[in-house]
Amino acid sequence: MDKYEILNTYFGYDSFRHGQEQIVDAILLGKDALGIMPTGAGKSLCFQVPAMVMDGITIVISPLVSLMKDQVSTLVAAGVPAAFLNSSLTERQYLKALDFAAGGKYKIIYVAPERLLTWRFQNFVEKVNIAMVAVDEAHCVSQWGQDFRPSYLDITQFVNGLKVRPIITAFTATATTRVKDDIVKMLNLNSPIQVVTGFDRKNLYYEVRKKQSKKIELMNIVREHKNESGIVYCTTRKKVEEVCQMLKEEGFKATRYHAGLEAEERKENQEKFIYDEINIMVATNAFGMGIDKSDVRFVVHFNMPKDIESYYQEAGRAGRDGESAQCILLYSGNDVSTNKFLIENSRQNGGNELTDEKVKQQMIAQDLRRLEQIIFYCQTTECLRTYVLRYFGEDVKEGCGNCFNCYEKITEKERKKRIIASLDGKLLNELKKVRMKLSMAQGVPAFVVFSDASLYDMCRKLPKNDEEFLEISGVGYKKLQQYGSAFLEVINKTKP
Ligand code: ADP
Ligand code: MG
Repeated sequence: MDKYEILNTYFGYDSFRHGQEQIVDAILLGKDALGIMPTGAGKSLCFQVPAMVMDGITIVISPLVSLMKDQVSTLVAAGVPAAFLNSSLTERQYLKALDFAAGGKYKIIYVAPERLLTWRFQNFVEKVNIAMVAVDEAHCVSQWGQDFRPSYLDITQFVNGLKVRPIITAFTATATTRVKDDIVKMLNLNSPIQVVTGFDRKNLYYEVRKKQSKKIELMNIVREHKNESGIVYCTTRKKVEEVCQMLKEEGFKATRYHAGLEAEERKENQEKFIYDEINIMVATNAFGMGIDKSDVRFVVHFNMPKDIESYYQEAGRAGRDGESAQCILLYSGNDVSTNKFLIENSRQNGGNELTDEKVKQQMIAQDLRRLEQIIFYCQTTECLRTYVLRYFGEDVKEGCGNCFNCYEKITEKERKKRIIASLDGKLLNELKKVRMKLSMAQGVPAFVVFSDASLYDMCRKLPKNDEEFLEISGVGYKKLQQYGSAFLEVINKTKP
């Protein structure tokens, strides 16, 4: 099958997104590639599609067990022969998986970097043909980043030990030059094609609210998003506890996540959120790196974060499926003083080996400058998206039309023109119910069955038969086979 057939048959999409095709083409010509794209841009497809076109196996290196599990579930649901090898498997399961892999059962194998140099894994790779090594979250190889993983340094040694050098590709959402240069160097990429897509996320709506009561505002927001997944970020653990408690008392399904909880509880709460048992996650910035949940419809910042970088990353966890999502920051003057306090104290008391007072003061000054930039963000009456993109060095023209400040400026008439006929709520609800039922029966998160984007598309297109069902974004042959009749039945029954 060629790349378009794979895209269509397995993943159920009719076209590549910006940047994807360029990378796929380069890989299919045998070139190394480096993809730098924002969260939600669709980096996975960049290596998954060529992996299916090429002969041989693709090894995907990924830092977190939870990420691997969800990504492999998504692939398997789409009919792609894939598996993961990590510490969540028992010894027996691991040996069995390796055995299957050696027998050519899988096209794509996700592996934790710690496994690469073990003799068992080495023994396996000797027996097979490896077409590509794809390094996901490649910034983990850089010591400049916050997420440095020493085991990522084993990747090059692993590659060097292979009989034939495979294609090497790397993907990240971190765009700083230092990290980028590090990735090319540390992974030994061979004149890779580099694709850097813009950082704009058009489907995200931005707003800053400066209201008397943050709690009332938060309540209004979660009420508007009944039964939809959302994250509420707070600066401190104490605030997380307080806000989570309040939401629960008001009858919302909320859970919490911060570094002060036992690992066991963190994992449990995260799973409840991913599996839609609970729809609101209240968390500190410790939450997020390990999740790929594509249907997060809102991210509220109960407190202003310390800089635009953090804000953009956290807010960016909304709407990865490309459907609209809201990013709302609740701002108050207190946030400024809390952040100032945190900046001054984290640099002064421990946690930092720097002893030189002058350097320390310089770093504090830099953090304070960044803080100032996000305070400006909270206070500007100009387009919020433009502000952020310019901060990241992108040249954009004023006025996105999808942030609060832009909405304020456009006239009522224009506003009406932009409003797309709203979706049928009843059908959507019914579709979500079947999705939930199927996902529970199979023990996978709901978004593995279908993303929100697919459900919305069903509401828009109202497919009547298999053929029309295949036209839905995200429906490939395997999903048609597995889920088609269940969803078609609901659509036929509930159709407006
Ligand atoms: P990233 O790793 O860049 O954060 P993902 O690979 O997780 O992003 O993809 C985000 C979402 O976009 C997923 O739900 C994926 O199915 C969807 N997606 C990716 N490529 C396409 C495409 N060409 N058309 C439609 N949806 C896509
Ligand atoms: Mg990804």
